[in-house]
Amino acid sequence: MKIHEFQAKQILKQFGVRIPRGEVADTPMRAREIAEDIGPRVVVKAQIHAGGRGKGGGVKLANTPVEAEMLAGEILGMTLVTHQTGPEGKLVKRILVEEALDIDRELYIGIVIDRATESPVVMASSQGGMEIEKVAAETPDLIFKEYIHPATGFGVFQARKLAFKLELSGDTLKQAVKFLLTLYKAFRASDASLAEINPLLVTKQGDVLALDAKMNFDDNALKRHPDIAKMRDLDEEDSLEVEASKFDLNYIKLDGSVGCMVNGAGLAMATMDIIMHSGGMPANFLDVGGGVSEEAVKNAFRILVSDKDVKAALINIFGGIVRCDLVANGIVKAAQELELDIPIVVRLEGTNVEQGKQILENSGLAFYSASSMKEAAEKIVPLAAQ
Ligand code: ADP
Ligand code: MG
Repeated sequence: MKIHEFQAKQILKQFGVRIPRGEVADTPMRAREIAEDIGPRVVVKAQIHAGGRGKGGGVKLANTPVEAEMLAGEILGMTLVTHQTGPEGKLVKRILVEEALDIDRELYIGIVIDRATESPVVMASSQGGMEIEKVAAETPDLIFKEYIHPATGFGVFQARKLAFKLELSGDTLKQAVKFLLTLYKAFRASDASLAEINPLLVTKQGDVLALDAKMNFDDNALKRHPDIAKMRDLDEEDSLEVEASKFDLNYIKLDGSVGCMVNGAGLAMATMDIIMHSGGMPANFLDVGGGVSEEAVKNAFRILVSDKDVKAALINIFGGIVRCDLVANGIVKAAQELELDIPIVVRLEGTNVEQGKQILENSGLAFYSASSMKEAAEKIVPLAAQ
């Protein structure tokens, strides 16, 4: 799960990570009040689940509270396009109004779980600011890493090593070491999968603060963190993915035109591969899982075809735990209710496959049937291209 910058900063603050003073606002008037309180110079920052806001015009400096009100008026309600939002952009509903600080250096700190070493890794770079992806691609030597043994935790010596590599000294070095240790504590205690501070600010006065903050969390651990779970902003997520999650269905939106309903992640991958191999592109895939009910199949199908990019749908089910007749009944009911006008190719295999095929045939609906995955893919691709 992703959260907004202002929410990440709230969490970090609870753990003692230093952040600038600031408050969130959803009207220009409120932005002005906050600026009067903490300003006069403030930064007005669009709150969306995407980075690159600075370059996209979503982070602006205001010298007076009146200017803060004016800039808030411009940013609130705008559709902000950044390199992370895609061309359609994201609507800005809230802004963070934060004290403007004097920047001496902008550093980078990121903590993620490293799959190769099966441990958290703390990354630091002196090249913070707005283009860390470029640094990683072109000059990876400028990103320093410390791997953390899960049993012993993040050692003070490791934090000091990183701070030295950032060429910090004196009190600034001490503050950076404390910052790193508290940031890791927050990462670990909140079951985060990512904690990224870009930039980590060194002020002209030598203080160290998080100027930006991004945190993602392990969905499977959210039960342990009801306060964090409450921070979920459904407006920032794909509406069909949200709808599918209500029924415990795994739905992923993709860029092509073939809708895919499958059971099991492995079959989903194989189905997408064979569609692409046959020259098509999946528009999405919906994994109905193992022990699915007829009702769930119906919902899955409804969600699948309400994606406007779907020009044809492929249903590829292997009846292991789930029975093909049950799936067929769900499909027929959904198709009758929805008055479908797109072509559907169905490939069923496994338990009760004959009954399943019979149900589809008896329904009188025009399904295309296929007996192998290859045949199904070869049928669906031209149908989706029409
Ligand atoms: P994004 O990563 O989405 O572009 P950031 O929060 O990193 O957004 O802000 C972009 C840039 O704006 C920062 O690199 C920094 O130079 C400047 N900035 C952000 N917040 C402040 C602040 N409170 N005071 C001064 N400058 C800021
Ligand atoms: Mg940033």
